[in-house]
Amino acid sequence: MTPILEVQSVNKRFGGLKALDDVNLTVMEGTVHAIIGPNGAGKSTLLNCFVGRLVPDTGTVTFAGQSLIGKKPHEINQAGVSRVFQTPEIFEDLTVLENVMIPALAQRDGAFRLHGWHPLSREAEIRDKAERALADVAMADRRNMPSGSLSRGDKRRLEMAMCLVQEPRLLLLDEPTAGMARADTNATIDLLKRIGSERNITKVVIEHDMHVVFSLADRISVLAQGHVIVEDAPENIKGNAKVQEAYLGG
Ligand code: ADP
Ligand code: MG
Repeated sequence: MTPILEVQSVNKRFGGLKALDDVNLTVMEGTVHAIIGPNGAGKSTLLNCFVGRLVPDTGTVTFAGQSLIGKKPHEINQAGVSRVFQTPEIFEDLTVLENVMIPALAQRDGAFRLHGWHPLSREAEIRDKAERALADVAMADRRNMPSGSLSRGDKRRLEMAMCLVQEPRLLLLDEPTAGMARADTNATIDLLKRIGSERNITKVVIEHDMHVVFSLADRISVLAQGHVIVEDAPENIKGNAKVQEAYLGG
């Protein structure tokens, strides 16, 4: 297996707080790598360092052999990294289909050229791609609905479609099932499994729900107080004393 994402000795401070403390992590291509840990452990901060929203104080982040340090979010996105945010970031006033067309356009044209875009209705090829991504998340029938009227679970699936339409090599998901009812959670697990088998997308999943983690992950890194305390296969994580201590102590 080839590493697709390599994180070495990453440190990040917010004033006096050491949010990331010498983080090391290797994600293999084609796998699902989960990052778990108590609230405030630094999981979202780490993800922000992968997508260029934050720059580590020290350390390296390498994607497919390319350093991501100093790259802008849209450059990292165009290199093949997409992200589902912890809080949905969709345009509530636009339709479901329009929301999926925008990232596809951004991917093709670059974020800055979007200002001079053509009417969305003339973008037939982009529209087709967006329709396919919506079919992948079983939302084709909702394509003309205003996105603001969707249920919470459907908003998350819409976000997933907004990522898939970009055909990423690496998909980063920050708590993809947060706030979902069990049925939606299970549908999301199935969806993520399907995405894995039909296309070669590597996934990094931050997740609180252990049912989701153990259903999906090939490998798990446990973060506590900014540091990776354990990295192992799922079957070795459950009974691990250090992990239990981190959760109980957190
Ligand atoms: P997690 O996602 O694991 O719950 P975060 O990465 O969001 O944790 O946060 C890690 C720590 O860094 C927390 O103590 C949080 O309060 C702090 N933190 C996160 N972002 C900022 C910021 N922009 N400024 C200051 N402190 C922050
Ligand atoms: Mg978080």
